[in-house]
Amino acid sequence: MTQTVPGTLYIVAAPSGAGKSSLVNALIKRLPFVYLSISHTTRQVRPGETDGDHYHFTTTDEFLDMVGRGEFLEHAQVFDNYYGTSQVYVQRQLDAGHDVILEIDWQGAQQVRKLMPDCKSIFILPPSREALLERLEKRQQDSADVIERRMRDAVSEMSHYAEFDYLIINDDFYKALDELCTIFTANRVTIDQQKQRYDSLIEQLLN
Ligand code: GDP
Ligand code: ADP
Ligand code: 5GP
Repeated sequence: MTQTVPGTLYIVAAPSGAGKSSLVNALIKRLPFVYLSISHTTRQVRPGETDGDHYHFTTTDEFLDMVGRGEFLEHAQVFDNYYGTSQVYVQRQLDAGHDVILEIDWQGAQQVRKLMPDCKSIFILPPSREALLERLEKRQQDSADVIERRMRDAVSEMSHYAEFDYLIINDDFYKALDELCTIFTANRVTIDQQKQRYDSLIEQLLN
């Protein structure tokens, strides 16, 4: 028998195109105790995206109403669109013992660190600027001017890397994925967590 230990909140940030969604989606397939927070956004739906799966797509009016009602743990304006994280969803998953990932920008990361100082944050960098541009183009989901805007904003996003606890260079995808999984797994087996989780086993073994 194990005890439920509250989950850990993780922030994953990176410049657009560095590979954070690909890495996080692969991580979730490997580690069943990790849940992804689906953000709300006012940006346009990309081909292949569905509402409630990649994002909860909302109008600006709906988004601002949610801000007014205090429903977001954090929210920020990124590339002319609003993005925000649902407070209720995150808290419910943490209480159920699931680790939760927020894929958010550096502004959101700063807000979450203030509110939840026990969170862990991970920054992902591409191996070069050329690779970042190639990945944005290869994804074939953004127009040329959107890609240009994202490349321009990449340097300002990357300049915040040192505010994070962990840094992963996403050059070889599977090496980066292993590094990411290691962070989650190592945190799950700290003495602090395991002694709560295996309280009754430890009691039996020692007495
Ligand atoms: P992509 O990251 O290139 O796939 O592009 P998106 O349009 O999905 O996201 C653009 C930026 O918004 C990224 O830097 C995300 O980290 C950031 N972002 C996404 N969701 C949230 C959120 O809920 N809050 C905040 N603060 N930023 C977010
Ligand atoms: P982000 O969520 O950070 O914007 P994505 O996960 O959408 O980035 O990745 C951008 C593109 O780069 C996708 O086409 C993805 O398949 C590709 N990609 C991700 N990681 C790597 C890697 N290590 N090597 C080559 N291509 C990658
Ligand atoms: P469902 O409507 O089936 O409960 O949820 C659909 C998807 O949205 C699921 O992937 C779930 O994780 C996500 N989701 C449901 N409620 C919330 C919420 O309040 N906030 C966020 N960020 N995601 C949610």
